[in-house]
Amino acid sequence: MKTDQPGLIRSTQNGWELRAVDVLVAAPLYGTFTYAWPFSDDPIVGQRVIVPWGRQKRVGLVHGLRAAVDGDAASDYDLKAVERFLDDGRLLSAQWRQLIEFAARYYHHPLGTVALESLPKALRVLNAKSEEPVMVEKARAHADRLAEWVHSEHDSPSMNEAPALNPAQSAAVAALVDARGFDPYLLYGVTGSGKTEVYLHAIAQRLRRGEQVLVLLPEINLTPPAMALYQKRLTGHRVVVMHSNLPELARTKAWFEVASGKADVLIGTRLGVLTPMPRLGFVVVDEEHDPSYKQQDGMRYQARDLALMLAKQRNCPVVLGSATPSLESWLKSEQSAYKRLDLTQRAVPGASLPTVELVNTANFPPKEGLSEPVIQALRENLDAGRQAIVFLNRRGYAPQLVCNACGWVANCEHCSAHMVWHKRDMSLRCHHCGAGQRVPQACVCCGNQDLSGFGRGTQRVEEVLEGLFPSARVLRLDADSTRNKGQMEDLLEKAHAGEVDILVGTQMISKGHDFANIGLVVALNVDASLYSHAYRAPERLFAQLMQVAGRAGRRAGSARMLVQTRYPQHPLFSALMAHDYVRFADSEMQGRREARMPPFSYQATLRADHRHLGNCIEFLRNAKAFGEAICAAEGTVFLCDPVPLSVVRVGGIERAQMLVESESRPSLHAFLNEWMNWLTAQKGAVKWFLEVDPVEL
Ligand code: ADP
Ligand code: ZN
Ligand code: ZN
Repeated sequence: MKTDQPGLIRSTQNGWELRAVDVLVAAPLYGTFTYAWPFSDDPIVGQRVIVPWGRQKRVGLVHGLRAAVDGDAASDYDLKAVERFLDDGRLLSAQWRQLIEFAARYYHHPLGTVALESLPKALRVLNAKSEEPVMVEKARAHADRLAEWVHSEHDSPSMNEAPALNPAQSAAVAALVDARGFDPYLLYGVTGSGKTEVYLHAIAQRLRRGEQVLVLLPEINLTPPAMALYQKRLTGHRVVVMHSNLPELARTKAWFEVASGKADVLIGTRLGVLTPMPRLGFVVVDEEHDPSYKQQDGMRYQARDLALMLAKQRNCPVVLGSATPSLESWLKSEQSAYKRLDLTQRAVPGASLPTVELVNTANFPPKEGLSEPVIQALRENLDAGRQAIVFLNRRGYAPQLVCNACGWVANCEHCSAHMVWHKRDMSLRCHHCGAGQRVPQACVCCGNQDLSGFGRGTQRVEEVLEGLFPSARVLRLDADSTRNKGQMEDLLEKAHAGEVDILVGTQMISKGHDFANIGLVVALNVDASLYSHAYRAPERLFAQLMQVAGRAGRRAGSARMLVQTRYPQHPLFSALMAHDYVRFADSEMQGRREARMPPFSYQATLRADHRHLGNCIEFLRNAKAFGEAICAAEGTVFLCDPVPLSVVRVGGIERAQMLVESESRPSLHAFLNEWMNWLTAQKGAVKWFLEVDPVEL
């Protein structure tokens, strides 16, 4: 017997026994790792531990307890021992693990990675000395110091600044306050109908019962105004915010507050859904249709869908809110799986939705991107002293830099994509891999100095507008103008304070902002999405146009929206002009049903990445052949041929993918389970990943 085996302890009955635990580690490997448990304290599932990992140390999570093995059998083991345990496992409760396990299973992602990567970095990454960062102790102590909130019937959050609810809002609030058990709602309310007010009132009442509330928002940008509003209105309750741009200590503190049940309301972007919430009683997913709820790397999860699963597991109501619900959620409400709450009117008295007009660019050819009717409307709006939004979904100055002599186009050397010209800082940037360089003085092919931009981004439209309206204050809002901390807030503050006449921006300006004085919205450059090969493009465009239209006319006074297009007869526009989401959804839904596309079928994609496309395709062909052998018997799962991605090379790596479809979700997942066994056994240089419910195809 090897008495130097760590974890071998003297026990009263058997003489010697070995105690061991199964530990989850953040590694791209499926399964757990067994370590000896050398401590006299009993191990607890959910406990964070430090384990040796190759030559390093890593944070792991105790996932399972091994039955003690008696000493003689223990001699067969040669286990490394857990070095230290970091907490008592109470915060990473069974309830939390249930959601994490579901996510790992559903998205076919390694459980250790899912569990650990959902935690703030300080809780899962050791410092240079292989110790837990001191930040963790600070954050824990911070949460411990907070007083336990004592809830009583008299603690009523301050609703004095709240407007009196209209009947539709009151009905929605009543339903959400009375809801018990798992009960999903779709709050379908036109832009400006006061959905936020409904959330606030429902939350206030649910807080009084001592419940914790999770509020998910699609974008980091939306969290500061939401935080300010919720804090102001839910006085006496602790509201915290969580998103990926928070400083590490702030995020860790917020995590401890929420996980220990001290904080009452968590306002978070998608990662918020993976935070333990011991008293959770109500879940809100605002702008549920927003594509930002989909995580696009690592575990590619859909936070809205996980929020529903969370509510189901915790047996509590959940409300999804949108003016343009996703077709997935709309179908569920049609099938009565979600109860619908409708807000059909704008909440502010006198406010109205803008009238939508189409400008046919065949009749009014744009000069520098703007047609005459658009310029005219902008002028009139300025003269009337009102603000305008010019929306186009492309940042930079020009999407291509072209030589006028030889036709050379600046391309990224690492990607199969053009470099985007950013004029302000005289750079060329690749929006795929992030590579950047200075704009060349002359054509690299022929030496000609006459280079010009082809196409238009927000920077160029900003420049054109400044030229057309020299006295107007033009402000640009996009990922480039808001890159630095606080910039976004500054720009929005200016816009709200009326210090801006024309706001130019990407979809960033369309989301959630409650501007008071927008009299005109102009949408440019929409045509590419109308006939795109991406089947979700029209749904996305319609939602964006409805959202950006919704920024106008939010107070008294009429407002207009002008859309420049070559295809004014497209049915999407007739629905837009009527502000009729239902008409759009019905026609889109019919198309999807006929084509057996989601939400009438379920999909997954297998992506393969390698320096040579040929290797990607070969890998996928093999995967397909193996997959077809699995589903030959069943015939319910359909595997498409591998295809290169439309931007095939990014950062020097070529990419291909294949689509797997089924009309039955259980069949698809049964197939994926078996397929994964084969995939994970593959050795080779091709990197692959599986994406369930992909949105970008
Ligand atoms: P949504 O999220 O549905 O687009 P908001 O919640 O932003 O709408 O509300 C739009 C505006 O209407 C806000 O300024 C809000 O304060 C106001 N509002 C909401 N409910 C009422 C109400 N019952 N009476 C008057 N104003 C309201
Ligand atoms: Zn040239
Ligand atoms: Zn690139």
